[in-house]
Amino acid sequence: MNSELGDLYQQLILDHNRRPRNFGPLADATHHAEGYNPLCGDKITVYLTLDADQVVTQVRFDGKGCAISKASASLMTDQLKGKTVAQADSLFRNFHALVAGVGAPDEVALGKLAAFGGVREFPMRVKCATLAWHTFRAALQQAAVPISTETRDTAYE
Ligand code: ZN
Repeated sequence: MNSELGDLYQQLILDHNRRPRNFGPLADATHHAEGYNPLCGDKITVYLTLDADQVVTQVRFDGKGCAISKASASLMTDQLKGKTVAQADSLFRNFHALVAGVGAPDEVALGKLAAFGGVREFPMRVKCATLAWHTFRAALQQAAVPISTETRDTAYE
């Protein structure tokens, strides 16, 4: 990545940290879940509404965390609105491949999420970047207990 592009990406992350999009609870959510990353202290709740066609019609988040976790949640909610559950799952696979540095992510499909490509250099930050996504998946599964990044999620190891 050239440094100019790196700066742009950094600006995007800082902007979403300062002014998170889709931030705050969603009163009429059909699904929600809490996620916790004990390694960093990030704690977020993801709220969403699914329609009968399995389309994510609304998605918001709430909570506290580091710049990476907050910016990631903000950009995730921007990207997931209007997507089907299957499309969301595919996007998460791409995003996980990008930040974990495994496999070959489809950077075109990732769009602005490609801003998190630098995270792979910082293994501790991978969990900050993926927390919102794990929490989104937990919400879809209507997890009754808060999920933790320290609980193994075999689908994405
Ligand atoms: Zn964090």
